[in-house]
Amino acid sequence: MARLQIDRVTKSYGELKAVDDATLDVANGEFLVLLGPSGCGKTTTLRMVAGFVEPTSGTIRLDGNDVTTLPPWKRNAGLVFQSYALFPHLTVNQNVAFGLEMRKVPAADMPKKVAEALRLVRLDHLGERLPRQLSGGQQQRVALARALVFHPDILLLDEPLSNLDAKLRQDVRVEIRELQRKLGLTTVMVTHDQEEALTMADRLVVMSEGRIRQVGTQHDLYERPADRFVADFVGRSNFIEGRIEAPGKFVSKGGLAIACADGPPGSAVLALRPERVAIVGSGEPADNRFEGRVEFLSYLGAAIDLHVRLSPAERLIVQLPNRPESAAPKIGDAVTLAWSRTTARIFHD
Ligand code: ATP
Repeated sequence: MARLQIDRVTKSYGELKAVDDATLDVANGEFLVLLGPSGCGKTTTLRMVAGFVEPTSGTIRLDGNDVTTLPPWKRNAGLVFQSYALFPHLTVNQNVAFGLEMRKVPAADMPKKVAEALRLVRLDHLGERLPRQLSGGQQQRVALARALVFHPDILLLDEPLSNLDAKLRQDVRVEIRELQRKLGLTTVMVTHDQEEALTMADRLVVMSEGRIRQVGTQHDLYERPADRFVADFVGRSNFIEGRIEAPGKFVSKGGLAIACADGPPGSAVLALRPERVAIVGSGEPADNRFEGRVEFLSYLGAAIDLHVRLSPAERLIVQLPNRPESAAPKIGDAVTLAWSRTTARIFHD
């Protein structure tokens, strides 16, 4: 177990800053997820922690020790990649033992350690099989056992689940998370899958174009996104362009006057989560009430998405829980949308 500190780390490739002045502090036993679109710098960040890429500037510390320029094999980090990278001609036992051989563990100690690691991932009965005789999920668990067998200080996971099918991915997520908690192992995982990040993380780091946009818990990112990018990337948001004309009064480009939280006057964007907008009856009071017409509808099973036209320039997505007892509006229906003034967030970027 270790604390990981990344201090003002930059990685440049020519003009491009793949990672730009990143600072992160990962506590002992914490599960941190780096999340962001393709090319945002998350894999480069992980590879710098693993030792495969050397930072252009900045410092990386593991438990207070500067490891910035140490090669990978001198860091006690367990790695799991998207491609399981198992040796096809070696058995499961031999694949797991490989990490021990690299670290010059005495041969006599190996069988016990290998069995222990395979027990952790519930594969101790399959030690004599070859990788091709295992399912994708089982192969990924062998890769995990191989990363855990030498008791690493830190576990680094690079899109470890993206080769698994959707259903299996959900199960393996929970398995990895439970195991990580049981072992109290400091873990950093890279993913571009928002749901995976939200399910597994203690804290998340949202990156874009090499920069860290926000670090926080699921609740922090969803309820208090730092900027428009985070509001769009974590969960969904409707964005309405316009201006704050007076304290608590936003006027959209389409001319809607919307009551909102106080903020400085000037051009702004209002962000509104689809599930925070209600459909109300004509007499119900609300800070904001707007008449609209349903133009499109998606039946999602647990919820229904309505696309509601409020003005020629504005159409909102509204998400309703799917309740059998209340009939959802249909395409073409007139509806009244309502939300409170504190529901929306205002961004000035
Ligand atoms: P993905 O999800 O697609 O793997 P990512 O967020 O992990 O993306 P990185 O792989 O960290 O992104 O890449 C960040 C940026 O740095 C990209 O623009 C990429 O093209 C660039 N980059 C990464 N490695 C190199 C390299 N060895 N040489 C030049 N440019 C690189």
